[in-house]
Amino acid sequence: MPLPLAKRAEKDPVRPGGVPLDAAQVLAFRRRLINWYRTNARQLPWRGVNDSYRTWLSEIMLQQTRVAAVIDRYNEFLTKFPTIVALALATEADVLASWSGLGYYRRARMLHHAAQFIVREHGGKLPSTALELRTLPGIGEYTSAAIASIAFGESVAVVDGNVERVLLRITGRPEVATAAARSFVQAQASALVPRRRANSQGNPPGDHNQAMMELGATICLPRAPLCTQCPVYGLCKTRGEHLTPVRAPQRSLPASYLLSLRKRGIITEVLLEKRPDHASLMPGMYELPQLPEAVVEGREPLLRLRHAITNTNYYVRVFAARGPRDRTLRKAVPIAEGVLHWVRTSRLGAEPLTGLARKALQRLDVMQVRPVRIDAQPDLPEEVHLPRPAGTADEWNDDDFDEL
Ligand code: SF4
Repeated sequence: MPLPLAKRAEKDPVRPGGVPLDAAQVLAFRRRLINWYRTNARQLPWRGVNDSYRTWLSEIMLQQTRVAAVIDRYNEFLTKFPTIVALALATEADVLASWSGLGYYRRARMLHHAAQFIVREHGGKLPSTALELRTLPGIGEYTSAAIASIAFGESVAVVDGNVERVLLRITGRPEVATAAARSFVQAQASALVPRRRANSQGNPPGDHNQAMMELGATICLPRAPLCTQCPVYGLCKTRGEHLTPVRAPQRSLPASYLLSLRKRGIITEVLLEKRPDHASLMPGMYELPQLPEAVVEGREPLLRLRHAITNTNYYVRVFAARGPRDRTLRKAVPIAEGVLHWVRTSRLGAEPLTGLARKALQRLDVMQVRPVRIDAQPDLPEEVHLPRPAGTADEWNDDDFDEL
């Protein structure tokens, strides 16, 4: 059990710069971690597969996205694009449509470009070293290390947010994001990752890196670490008494959208706005046309929901015309006519929709909901309490937090 703060300070003071593990502690850490991982790792579809494309895809999808949200998309994506060549031959619109709802669409574009580059320059085979992988679009230091170690057994440390948190706490360094802290963590992570010897069984570097990330995702949690269940508790300098960084304040903003439907025989179409191809956020994606707040004053929305993007919570309302003659809302859409499109509702699943558009259209029964399996995962976002805009408390659904 953790000691009271004062006693711990006497016994084992936490130094501002952190105390790196010595050689004996490094060996003990590796052993305890891997033994714990072998019996406690979550069963995830991308684990234990001997296919570097799958490892790559999972690492890209998992960037800033919850495991539960990735699981179904990962399987669907592989059904549609089972190989690097199949992905390279697809259209960008097809790739974006399969990514819809996962957010951060730049990742999908980069994945697609990288697949085309691999087919063109590497005969369709993913390079096997972290150094070569970093030359591909959308693959940086973290992702290259993850693929190289997990898929090819290279002894290179993976440092994501989870690993960084674990190492800062283990060594007693305050959780403050500075360049010096990052290089301290990188050095400690590199010292911990095992070397792959000629007679090594399995993949020690890949397993170690996955175990580090798993420890951060399931035990050394950001707000309330489960120290009593931690396999490296005996080596940890902080044991739940870490200094946490101040969180950025959350903003709340209203956002209103138009739902406009039309019938053409047996076909129903919905009016969508295509974001400009040069937009910095979600270029080329489809969304419901946005309305100025002044225009919807006094109108009753069809739907209310909340949508969170990084540190902003959008209180979203969707409005429809009051009758066939009511063109007020349609005329109030403040965009050029050329970027509005009527899209068949039966085709919505194949279009690159923003996460918010998909959610609203599904809630309004305009778009079919695909069956999604959400397993209980320990890294689901924690409950957030926020100031609300005008409206009664139960008008807003609290389960609407999502990423773009
Ligand atoms: S003992 Fe607690 S704070 Fe230290 S690494 Fe384990 S879970 Fe994290």
